[in-house]
Amino acid sequence: MNNPNIVILGAGYGGMMTTTKLQKSLGANEANLTLVNINDYHYQATWLHENAAGTLHHDRTRIPIKEIVNTTNKINFIKDKVISIKPAEKKVKLENSEIFYDYLVIGLGFELATFGIPGIEEHAFKIENINSARLLREHLDYNFAKYHDEQKKREARLNIVIGGGGFTGIEFAGELANRIPELCEEYDIEKAQVRIINVEGADTVLPGFDPQLVNYAMNSLEARGVEFITGAMLKECKAASIVYEKDEKQVEIPTMTTVWTAGVKANSIVEKSGMETNRGKVEVRKDMRAPDYDDIFVIGDCAVIMDQESGNPYPPTAQIAIQQSNVVAHNVKSLINGGEMEEFEPNLLGTVASLGNNDAIGMVMNNRKLFGWKATVMKKVIDNRYLFKLGGISLLMRKGKFNPFY
Ligand SMILES: Cc1cc2nc3c(=O)[nH]c(=O)nc-3n(C[C@H](O)[C@H](O)[C@H](O)COP(=O)(O)OP(=O)(O)OC[C@H]3O[C@@H](n4cnc5c(N)ncnc54)[C@H](O)[C@@H]3O)c2cc1C
Repeated sequence: MNNPNIVILGAGYGGMMTTTKLQKSLGANEANLTLVNINDYHYQATWLHENAAGTLHHDRTRIPIKEIVNTTNKINFIKDKVISIKPAEKKVKLENSEIFYDYLVIGLGFELATFGIPGIEEHAFKIENINSARLLREHLDYNFAKYHDEQKKREARLNIVIGGGGFTGIEFAGELANRIPELCEEYDIEKAQVRIINVEGADTVLPGFDPQLVNYAMNSLEARGVEFITGAMLKECKAASIVYEKDEKQVEIPTMTTVWTAGVKANSIVEKSGMETNRGKVEVRKDMRAPDYDDIFVIGDCAVIMDQESGNPYPPTAQIAIQQSNVVAHNVKSLINGGEMEEFEPNLLGTVASLGNNDAIGMVMNNRKLFGWKATVMKKVIDNRYLFKLGGISLLMRKGKFNPFY
């Protein structure tokens, strides 16, 4: 009998951790393991805001897949773009070929949601992957360099608008606030000429966070020059300005850099596959399988799990994607070798948001609040712990963050 084909789509947090676990737990004569990813590297999406601001080079964030998984003997790695999934035919269409599976794990991550706001798709910058983060960093450098090159000075080159005061918007604002002095020195620009403006629709940034932590975050960022405009809806993004509405008045800010961070959704390939979805995500069963398909697991940001207590979905996080990989890998193996299926139960360990590399806020274990250096150290511990889990001590030594204040 032929070995079953296990296909894992996406080498993000969920996909990579599932692959490394199956690589260890299944013998080469038990199953054929295939990992498909658009790039030949894995990246830590939780560090992308640092790459985008230019405070961390993207080579620190990306990790060649062959350094983590055994692509010689155990894993058939295919560098290709997933175009569509055909569950009825047990087939995945890639840009350059198609593959068939017996068991499929979908871990294709997130896309930014633009809510149909005119001009966001065309003109706004995104922090979605290595390429979009690198583009934004280069664009910032270009605008600072270009400022002195023009007869008529354009403030739009030095105004940076961040659309959205959620987790990503605030983390990016913190990194940018730390990068601006360096950019000003590099390009002979007075720091007072540069504006970082955060526009948020809700009445406060970081909605859902403890008010004391929000207050701390806003003070820390304001002290470094970030301006907040809350209760303001972004109405339009143009090539050299944005328009927002607040108190029924529309205001235009000249800017050539709008960074859109205000919403994420599942990779749209999932919805297009015809599987039953809830706002674009697959509401998985307790064993992490799709409702109508016993051979399809969905993990990370492509999946949704409802918190029965609050009635709300758990937020899409790397923390949850990593935890889910334990259950997915275990259950795939059980389907092949026989054995009990496990159920996924999230174990929320808390949230830490960085405010630049030397400041942070967090709520950890039993709602303990953390501020400043303690939260910064915690953030780096979380990052390092993931690297250790993924690639052991050698990956941790190569990519880890060891200086708590830098
Ligand atoms: C700036 C930022 C900061 C964040 N901070 C935190 C944090 O502090 N803590 C936390 O828990 N979460 C954080 N998150 C959220 C977290 O990054 C996501 O929840 C997590 O990445 C989801 O993991 P995943 O495995 O579902 O997908 P991802 O990690 O997004 O991986 C998806 C993979 O699929 C690949 N892929 C996508 N489309 C295709 C295709 N068509 N074909 C082939 N390959 C494809 C991608 O290249 C990628 O490798 C942050 C997110 C951002 C953007």
